[in-house]
Amino acid sequence: MTDIGEDPDLFVLGSFVAACSAMVARQPRPGETLEAQAFWLDPGGKGLNLAVGARRLGARVDGLVAVGRDPFGDMAEAALRRAGLPAAMLRRVDAPTGAGIGLVDAAGENCIAVFPGANAHLDSAAVAQAAGRLIRARCVLAQFEIGEAPIAEAFRRARAAGVATLLNPSPFRPVPAALLADTTILVLNATEAAALREDLGLPTGAWEDLVAALLARGPRIVVVTLGERGALAREAGGPLLTQPAFPVAAVDTIGAGDAFTAGLAVALVENRPLAEALRQAAACGACVVARPGVFDALPDRAARDAILA
Ligand code: ADP
Repeated sequence: MTDIGEDPDLFVLGSFVAACSAMVARQPRPGETLEAQAFWLDPGGKGLNLAVGARRLGARVDGLVAVGRDPFGDMAEAALRRAGLPAAMLRRVDAPTGAGIGLVDAAGENCIAVFPGANAHLDSAAVAQAAGRLIRARCVLAQFEIGEAPIAEAFRRARAAGVATLLNPSPFRPVPAALLADTTILVLNATEAAALREDLGLPTGAWEDLVAALLARGPRIVVVTLGERGALAREAGGPLLTQPAFPVAAVDTIGAGDAFTAGLAVALVENRPLAEALRQAAACGACVVARPGVFDALPDRAARDAILA
């Protein structure tokens, strides 16, 4: 496995989920067993997606992901090795590895159940142990498939050390004010943006107003992704930027947000201006949408740049 000799660009504090998917003609009724037309098992989880997405774009990536001492944990280890991510990212805990079951029907609807397992056991103590590595990164990334305490701990340490932080509160749960204040870059999809607006008691209105209200609460950059309608973003003191989605034939939109966020983070740590970072991020999102699955669909630079050309 790759070892982090030099300082990492990104430190991903995230989740691993072994994702079982089956394709069915329609969703089963309670008590019913259906024959599936296809079945596949992929390494997944938002943390893994972010780390692999950024690594494939050439970033040096470190991080922390908790898995169990079980075959799905071994699958995570193999996935990290295959992606060229450091073995030190993996923390084995006494809980089963996170796993999910998804049924995709002919209408493209998904029914998914996810068991967090080991992801819920990634604690503040693990973050404290990894603090020496975390503060050497240029940006610390987190999403919400793990608990609140380790993220708060990581972001507090990052900010104290002058390291940027990126929060993608997905799947949504309320964002504590202190965490928002410790967030440098906030990335939301439309569902998360609406939920955060409601949670903070902000009035409904244009996305632009929400972005302005969020910039006043700590983040330096706020990004809202709007699926095939693209994305908008603003940096404190700067104008509102809009980025259309790149037109691609959508095969499977799962993972678009993770690919977008990885692309954005890589561009920003490479000191690209926000408008250029948004373009690169949208190209990464489009790449994942145009191919089935996530792990194998996350683009390298050549695939991203082919969309940008
Ligand atoms: P999430 O997956 O978190 O719900 P979005 O659906 O908003 O996130 O997608 C993130 C980004 O991926 C979008 O801003 C866009 O740039 C890109 N994207 C998503 N869906 C499409 C699509 N159908 N065609 C092209 N690009 C897309």
